[in-house]
Amino acid sequence: MGDRIASAGPVGRAPLPAGARIIELTGMTLLPGLIEGHSHLLLHPYDETPWTSQVLNEPLAMRVAYAVRAAEATLMAGVTTMRDLGTEGAGYADVGLKRAIEEGVIAGPRLLVSTRAIVATGSYQPKGAPEHELPLGAEPADGVDELTRVVRDQMGKGADWIKVYADYRWGPAGEALPTFTQDELNLIVRVANSGGRPVVAHASSPEAMRRAVLAGVESIEHGDGGTPEVFRLMGERGVAFCPTIAAGDAVTQYAGWQKGTEPEPGRIQRKRDSFRAALDAGTPICFGGDVGVYPHGDNVRELELMVEYGMAPVDALLAATSRNALMLHLEEDLGSVRQGLLADLIAVRGDPTQDVSALRDVVLVMKGGVIWREPRD
Ligand SMILES: [Zn+2]
Repeated sequence: MGDRIASAGPVGRAPLPAGARIIELTGMTLLPGLIEGHSHLLLHPYDETPWTSQVLNEPLAMRVAYAVRAAEATLMAGVTTMRDLGTEGAGYADVGLKRAIEEGVIAGPRLLVSTRAIVATGSYQPKGAPEHELPLGAEPADGVDELTRVVRDQMGKGADWIKVYADYRWGPAGEALPTFTQDELNLIVRVANSGGRPVVAHASSPEAMRRAVLAGVESIEHGDGGTPEVFRLMGERGVAFCPTIAAGDAVTQYAGWQKGTEPEPGRIQRKRDSFRAALDAGTPICFGGDVGVYPHGDNVRELELMVEYGMAPVDALLAATSRNALMLHLEEDLGSVRQGLLADLIAVRGDPTQDVSALRDVVLVMKGGVIWREPRD
């Protein structure tokens, strides 16, 4: 048996190859493996260890050890493909993890990786006293020569996507303001695209989002300050929006918000408003939660929040399957249950088109025709 779907259809109508094994899934829903659009395998939840301590104090081997556990938890939760958006100071460890998964050394989803990610000088963290040069969570580069070199270097070292921070919270009052100029962003996209790599931008301010879209990035992450105008522009250009609702929800709770008993802080309300604006503008919505900020394997949290913030459950499911396959340029391989596609299949108890939380009850995980988890009698 190969790694692709030989045929798909109702019982009795789809041809059954001789010797095929039958798995009964009564009362369950069979669907394509989930595709997570925004993860950090090399991070673990900030309430365990703050981000700065992970970047500065954790030995690389320890970070990789955490990541190995995270990759397995992710696959067992039904996520069979994942775009990992930056190692946050762990160098090119994502490239090695990807290969270890491909070669069967460890369990995990198929990965698309972005290695170190690119930031403008002065913008990123951690920051110590100005006299000290601390190692950063991403690779700084500026201007024509440096950006060209760094984009090419990351591609050469294994980046499937180039990630750029189009803004960061480095304004005079700690607000998100643009980092790179329009020319710099244009250059990044041109160099990456000519090497066959799409570009993804971190951006929360409307101006950085606008510049990133005009430069030709293919997805925008966070978008907390997104306006109806910029979401419409994204819709017109087919730029996907990964709202990372679950990360903001988690971080706000780590900072002391008692969800359910206390009123929603401004940050959460802004997130609801911007997500609503994106839905209304017809922006293609990605399933991308920034998992790693909260526990790996808890990816469904993002889908639950997308529904809580106004998306229909079936649209959230499409975001996590065929829509994300399209964003990743993998629609001929992944995201649907269809003849010829890779056999990435999961089954869950109940009906996730009615309640996405059914995705928490995963009973079958198959990746490329290999079963990693199956129903017990
Ligand atoms: Zn992230």
